[in-house]
Amino acid sequence: MRRRYIPQPRSHFLKVTCECGNVQEIFSHATTIIVCRVCGKTLAEPSGGITKLYGEVIEVLD
Ligand SMILES: [Zn+2]
Repeated sequence: MRRRYIPQPRSHFLKVTCECGNVQEIFSHATTIIVCRVCGKTLAEPSGGITKLYGEVIEVLD
C-alpha cells in the first residue's frame, strides 16, 4: 500500500536502515509511530515536536 504525505516547510524524507536490514523512507516530521514494514520494529516516533529516530539515517531526500 502506498501512502502519500503532504509536503510541509522544513520537512523532508529520510532513508533509514532498520537493524533487520530493511531500508525504509520515513517522513522527518512524523506525527505517528513509524514501524519497519519487515520486522515491525519502531523506526521513528513523534516526541514533543521532534521525531525520535531509532534506525540509522543513510540518506536525506528533499
Ligand atoms: Zn526491521
